[in-house]
Amino acid sequence: MRLRKSSTKQYQLKLSISMSHSNLQPRLDGNSSALLLLLALLLLLQVPDAGAGLTAASTPVPSSSASTTITEALQGQREAQITATRAASFAACLRSIKGFPEVRLPGTPNYRDYANGLRIIRWHLPAAVVYPKSVPQVQAAVLCAVKFKVQPIPRGGANSFESLSSGDGALVVDLSEMGAVMVDVKAMTATVQFGARMGNVYSAIYKAGVSAGKNLTCLGGVWPQVGIGGLTAAGGYGSLSRKYGVLADHILSARVVDAKARVLLTNEQSNPDLFFAIRGGGGGTYGIVVEATVKLVEVPVVTVAHIGYRGLDHAVDLMERFQRWAPSSPSELTFTYNLVRAGSDIKLYYLGREAELRQLIHQRSGLLAYPGAVFRAVECDVLGSRGWLAGSGWAPLSCKSDNVEVPQRVKPGGLLMKDREASKYRSAIFTKPVPREGLQEIVALLRSPEKIWKLFQWKAYGGAFDSIPASFNAFPHRKGVIMHSEFGTSFGYQRSAAELAASRARVVWDYFARAAAVMDKYATDARYNGYVCLCDDVAQYFGANYARLKAAKKKFDPGNVFRNALSVPPTGGDTSLE
Ligand SMILES: Cc1cc2nc3c(=O)[nH]c(=O)nc-3n(C[C@H](O)[C@H](O)[C@H](O)COP(=O)(O)OP(=O)(O)OC[C@H]3O[C@@H](n4cnc5c(N)ncnc54)[C@H](O)[C@@H]3O)c2cc1C
Repeated sequence: MRLRKSSTKQYQLKLSISMSHSNLQPRLDGNSSALLLLLALLLLLQVPDAGAGLTAASTPVPSSSASTTITEALQGQREAQITATRAASFAACLRSIKGFPEVRLPGTPNYRDYANGLRIIRWHLPAAVVYPKSVPQVQAAVLCAVKFKVQPIPRGGANSFESLSSGDGALVVDLSEMGAVMVDVKAMTATVQFGARMGNVYSAIYKAGVSAGKNLTCLGGVWPQVGIGGLTAAGGYGSLSRKYGVLADHILSARVVDAKARVLLTNEQSNPDLFFAIRGGGGGTYGIVVEATVKLVEVPVVTVAHIGYRGLDHAVDLMERFQRWAPSSPSELTFTYNLVRAGSDIKLYYLGREAELRQLIHQRSGLLAYPGAVFRAVECDVLGSRGWLAGSGWAPLSCKSDNVEVPQRVKPGGLLMKDREASKYRSAIFTKPVPREGLQEIVALLRSPEKIWKLFQWKAYGGAFDSIPASFNAFPHRKGVIMHSEFGTSFGYQRSAAELAASRARVVWDYFARAAAVMDKYATDARYNGYVCLCDDVAQYFGANYARLKAAKKKFDPGNVFRNALSVPPTGGDTSLE
């Protein structure tokens, strides 16, 4: 696949954008003074058109100068009053929602922590954050946003790598109070409110299954903190994917609050275009998915296993072997191959007995043919296997599942805050193995002297990806894809614009640009929407499904009320794939 209209963007440009947003922080962080509240209220007035959010960095706060005439000053004062009145009315609109959901406003204590999620490459200053507890409250919040021309942004698990689930001048509709999971063991389905984090979904399904004597789970990802909202919108690659596909393939129906604040039922019969789009077509684009019914799978036994290789001396040979064998291996087997400076390791997830896996790895994989390879395996029940996946592969093998359930809310001082990080990741999709010289370049990147976090992670395709058609839903990466990679680096916990501008941060950006350039030599132009990067073009996420997504967007949200920097637009953006 080649992009006809190339739109590769400059990574350095992204640095300046990030910094300009972050520049707000030193002035606003943690201060609840009336002046700051007034500034935030004034910013809200600047919203230019229907559904538009506020770009704080590019919108100056009105100020009077020495040459201002009395008439102009009075006019300015009057406008400020109107602005304050309008912002107060917006807040009142949210506060009057029936049942009184929690509302957080600029200038109130810890607002920055409520306003921003777990991936903080960019800090935002939204006009408000609301935590609805029911679908009518979501509808009412959308109505307030539309009435006051404020952009509504849904937030699920708050893990967007580009901080897309918050926005300057926007209304963040945080669904984390809506995390109920209702399991119907007989029907083999779970109806899940879309603020749920995946760990809590797995746990609820598991408990319901155990009480009926079954080992049940659903498709998903690896990290328990990830929200079902963003994961479904991206597709959702996880430990069962080579056998059953992605999470989006297992959604049977969903309810969506659209830009007119209606609740739309979507499934194969009802609003099928919207149903197509919300499964892998990108987050925050077509409305707010408030609930979905998910198909369950029974997993009688799982073997989790780990192969560790210290150092990078054999990494090129090993990676050559991995990319040739893993995509054609039995679909019961799913892999995560990690390549870091200290060495590489493979986490294996096998739907079957330990003895079978041992035989497969010893006799057919060729993955143990490298000096120092250490292979360990253990059988778990399905929740224990989730617990193991969420930890480091190098840790002692165990089936402990006490890390699977996670707090729903990101709260100041809360447990999830320890995961807050400014990391920079991107995806790459491969239809051919990376040649030896490419693998050597990757190892050279890992060995290059800058002392920063560097990860190349690889997930094998094949199996179910070869049999589910690319048009089944919006997730397009199917037959012919052999693996995807997530690669990136981290700034650590970014506190201020000064830190992001520091020379160490420049080293991080520079490394990321070099890593991307190497990957782009060997990867296709396609990208996976789970690892969004402002350096991507939105068409790259959806391949041949892009035109259908634009049509759905035009039909259900022609005014582009729900949008972000990487959402499918209703018109324009006509980059197409050959
Ligand atoms: C540590 C880590 C591990 C990961 N592991 C995996 C993995 O194993 N497999 C995989 O496929 N991906 C993985 N990802 C990527 C993950 O799928 C994306 O980051 C995903 O977008 C996160 O969803 P969220 O709900 O947590 O984030 P959010 O930031 O809340 O949402 C992401 C996007 O979806 C939108 N959105 C959220 N909820 C809704 C909703 N209800 N309706 C409409 N739009 C909504 C948001 O507006 C935003 O645009 C991982 C990410 C991290 C940080």
